Amino acid sequence: MQPVTSDDDVQAAWAVLESLTDPEIPVVSLRELGILREVRRVSDGLEVVITPTYSGCPAMGQIEDDVRAALQDANLQAKVFTQLAPAWTTDWMTDSAREKLRAYGIAPPMESCATPALALDAGESLLRFVRHAAAPSVAVPCPHCGSHDTLESSHFGSTACKALYKCQSCQEPFDYFKPY
Ligand SMILES: [Zn+2]
Repeated sequence: MQPVTSDDDVQAAWAVLESLTDPEIPVVSLRELGILREVRRVSDGLEVVITPTYSGCPAMGQIEDDVRAALQDANLQAKVFTQLAPAWTTDWMTDSAREKLRAYGIAPPMESCATPALALDAGESLLRFVRHAAAPSVAVPCPHCGSHDTLESSHFGSTACKALYKCQSCQEPFDYFKPY
């Protein structure tokens, strides 16, 4: 028997998934981070499309499991797809996600680091690799006090997608979510 899906199911799935947050950053939802790409109807149910953040991000398996479990709990028949292209970029983060990161003590990725190269598909990974390796050219503002007098103390913070910074003004360490 084919499960019957409707637009209501799509809405229901979005509503269920709306409550899911990043395992590492519990204040920001997967949708706000841009990880949750799409919920669509297919012949035998729903398909949910997610795009991992950094390649090999250890949280991704957890995110997929969370999405599956949430849909199952809501009695929604859905397959979860991981879509790698177009690759996730910090540009997909909503403004509300950036604001929540800052309030949580993590400096959000700086938009000034985004380049039109992000729109290119060909050679993208190479460009990103090069850009990723470079430290930001502008000082990352401290999420605690707003000072620009900050220094990178380690290029890899609590996770590979963050760098560890220290504020020279308030002396607080903080994570910087690197633009990607
Ligand atoms: Zn500070």
